[in-house]
Amino acid sequence: MRAYFAGRPGRAGVLGSPPMRVLVTGAAGFIGSHVVARLLARGDAVTGLDNFDPFYDPARKRANLAGLAGLAGLAGDFRLIEGDLLDPAALDASFGTESTRPDAVIHLAALAGVRPSLAEPARYQRVNVEGTARLTEACLARGVRRIVFASSSSVYGANTKVPFAETDRVDDPVSPYAASKRAGELLLRAFVHNAELSVAALRYFTVYGPRQRPEMAIHAFTRAIDGGEPVRLHGDGSSSRDYTYVDDVVDGTVAALDRPKRGLTLYNLGGERTTRLGDLVTRIAAALGKEARVVHGPEMPGDVPITFASVERARAELGYSPKTSIDEGLARFVAWYRAEGR
Ligand code: NAD
Repeated sequence: MRAYFAGRPGRAGVLGSPPMRVLVTGAAGFIGSHVVARLLARGDAVTGLDNFDPFYDPARKRANLAGLAGLAGLAGDFRLIEGDLLDPAALDASFGTESTRPDAVIHLAALAGVRPSLAEPARYQRVNVEGTARLTEACLARGVRRIVFASSSSVYGANTKVPFAETDRVDDPVSPYAASKRAGELLLRAFVHNAELSVAALRYFTVYGPRQRPEMAIHAFTRAIDGGEPVRLHGDGSSSRDYTYVDDVVDGTVAALDRPKRGLTLYNLGGERTTRLGDLVTRIAAALGKEARVVHGPEMPGDVPITFASVERARAELGYSPKTSIDEGLARFVAWYRAEGR
């Protein structure tokens, strides 16, 4: 475990909301690095915990943090704990001393791939479920009562009733990853029955944008089209996803942090419209100004036909309103990909 510190005194804070210190787990990842940037930009202090898991190249994660988190000497009151969520010493360091104790936790650290979870179900449960239990225990032991937890649209399984609402049944997960996210929600629900805690469990719907994980469809398709390689689609291209631009997800995540409610509240954070897989490929090709060649393969285990979020609860309670159209978001992703994402 290693700890890095970069301090800047005299944080400005946001009008009406005093600056706080937030522990962000998974801080070096795709979504985590955007959340950290937003919190630092508004004057919050951040402690990041990440073990630079090799699920994808850890150099990408270092690049995610460099330049925005004080490691490059740029800005903000940022501490990075390089360590494992499952290591008690790393957890202890993440909660700091009295002057660096977090007021709240945003828990994004997880093993995040759906298909790889089929090969390693036990490891997914360990990191995603036991990790959540240990983190919550650590929060309770130190009087930290505000947790934002990254859940996933995958908890809806092969639900075909659209749009998906938080009140829908979610007891039929299709992958160990989905089961681990649902288990995380249930575990946190049990915690709030027995302790004074405020938990927002955010069901993210396929997040994309700069720094997206390299194995995710938009990033992989962009790489293939850009390199003149065929795009391999699983199924006939008719499956649909609710793609959510990362800035919109960060808006919802920070709003959930700022508006804690006693107990556990589930929120869908989606983009409010669906895009068919075949159409996605056409749009990526247009953003790149290149032709796409498509090869169809069999459907993959763990895949679901559609995801589509109802965001009415998040709109009413968090003021959430996704703003980025798919073409605008893809254009921003492609600009990043060309500059540094290849
Ligand atoms: P990511 O893999 O880029 O980020 C996760 C980070 O957690 C990584 O940097 C990884 O090194 C870290 N991590 C993993 N295991 C750890 C451990 N044991 N200890 C400390 N750190 C550890 O993934 P992401 O796409 O940014 O996803 C962030 C969160 O959002 C995850 O919980 C994921 O399940 C959830 N989510 C993401 C999406 C999406 O579309 N990206 C959709 C739904 C839910």
